[in-house]
Amino acid sequence: MFTLTKVNMLAAAGVWRRCINITIRSLNGAKVVTRGFVSSENAEESGKADSDVYDIIISGGGMVGTAMACSVGFDPNLQGSKILLLEAGSKKEMDKAPDVYSTRVSSISPGSATLLSGLGAWDHIVNLRCKPYQKMQVWDACSDALITFDKENLQDEMAYVVENDVIVAALTKQLHALSDQVEVQYRTKVVKYTWPRPYHAVTSIPWVKVTLADGRTLKTKLLIGADGSNSMVRREAGIPTVKWNYDQSAVVAVLHLSEPTENNVAWQRFLPTGPIAMLPLSDRESSLVWSTSHQHAEELLQMDEESFVDAINSAFWSNENQSELVEAAGSLFRAALSFLMPDGTSTRQLPPSVAGVGPKSRVMFPLGMGHASEYIRHRVALIGDAAHRVHPLAGQGANLGFGDVSCLARVLSQAAFNGKDLGEMQHLLEYETERQRHNLPMMAATDLMKRLYSTNAAPMVLLRTLGIQATNALPPLKEQIIAYASK
Ligand SMILES: Cc1cc2nc3c(=O)[nH]c(=O)nc-3n(C[C@H](O)[C@H](O)[C@H](O)COP(=O)(O)OP(=O)(O)OC[C@H]3O[C@@H](n4cnc5c(N)ncnc54)[C@H](O)[C@@H]3O)c2cc1C
Repeated sequence: MFTLTKVNMLAAAGVWRRCINITIRSLNGAKVVTRGFVSSENAEESGKADSDVYDIIISGGGMVGTAMACSVGFDPNLQGSKILLLEAGSKKEMDKAPDVYSTRVSSISPGSATLLSGLGAWDHIVNLRCKPYQKMQVWDACSDALITFDKENLQDEMAYVVENDVIVAALTKQLHALSDQVEVQYRTKVVKYTWPRPYHAVTSIPWVKVTLADGRTLKTKLLIGADGSNSMVRREAGIPTVKWNYDQSAVVAVLHLSEPTENNVAWQRFLPTGPIAMLPLSDRESSLVWSTSHQHAEELLQMDEESFVDAINSAFWSNENQSELVEAAGSLFRAALSFLMPDGTSTRQLPPSVAGVGPKSRVMFPLGMGHASEYIRHRVALIGDAAHRVHPLAGQGANLGFGDVSCLARVLSQAAFNGKDLGEMQHLLEYETERQRHNLPMMAATDLMKRLYSTNAAPMVLLRTLGIQATNALPPLKEQIIAYASK
């Protein structure tokens, strides 16, 4: 597969970068070894003899926290530092893909694939199970206005659908190779964090204390909160968060298609009650993410299989929400656009029809939006859903988290190379600024889309119909959108 090869090439570039770093480190020799880690600082303060003191503790070993542990574990500038990953759940290992697909999947952008590849996890993911797709079609149930995103060359992958468990298992396998560098404690829940007092001279700053459910207390120079959208790290650090619940829950399920197809398109249709999406898993199976009212989501979970399948097919195919007036205005505008920009319009494709649903695969999740107004505090950094939670309509939550991982790992590597204390605000601020600049526009755009499509009022439908048709007719604008979402 073309892009898998491309990802491998990018990974090779990452390996080269690591090699160059190692060379620079060995040239710098002793200077690097004595730079600012637990083992090289004031022994009493750093607790050199104390086995419970770490340079970095990552709290939360989901997709994002596990990727963070691998990133810092592989970094040559952080060699010799003590790193601990704490995860409340059990270890996820996988030698071969399970017979049935998991309901929890993510659309993984090329940028995230490159990160996972640089960590050596992408090959495991491809060996286990991963479905690339080349095209995405999004359309409005109230007007049939549509937008298609594809790579200029349809050989190129737009994104990959991967089960969340497969990503964690592949990263966990990489952590085995890092067992000298990264300690991992599963089934270990943190129950309390105690913060150092701010504004002390760097040398006198005590570490963050982490109290575990079994009563043990650990200390760390830098605590990375990767503990999900209900982050205890964020809460206990008193970091203000802007958040609200949407009036929607997402129903997810594994779908069996009526007949085998190439299945290389991701489909999303905006219904007035919320978007319904079908992501390809194989030539016979797809993954459903249907965001709808809480009550309808409950009903969808209770339905027998046949009614559930009928509801999905009708959600993708029915024209019951369309108004003649909007359709007429939309057709006129479409005709004008195809006259002005003959290459700018796309042919409508039809989604595959669904014949069945994986046994016990239906699950629902209440949806919300949340953004920590600060990603860092003294000796603390938040990553992934702990820092930001988005509606799944843009398939970006995990991708934003992987972007955090790349950025924070780079900043920490540089700080270590310069002999800085890893928990210092100066370089953590660099991380916060860079990531908020990327995450906030994406979150705002996702929230706007959710609101814009949550109505079937004719003026609003007309406005978005014209907007979506105009965007669809402007390939450079679509390319910009793809490039932004691919990071
Ligand atoms: C329906 C749906 C569809 C989605 N689709 C996509 C998609 O297509 N693409 C995409 O990019 N994103 C998608 N997302 C978002 C994505 O699932 C999340 O952004 C991602 O899972 C966040 O990962 P995380 O590691 O930050 O947090 P989590 O997955 O929540 O992991 C947090 C971890 O921390 C551990 N933990 C929590 N508290 C403690 C504690 N006190 N002590 C120790 N451990 C603790 C938990 O056990 C857990 O393992 C979707 C989300 C939903 C709901």
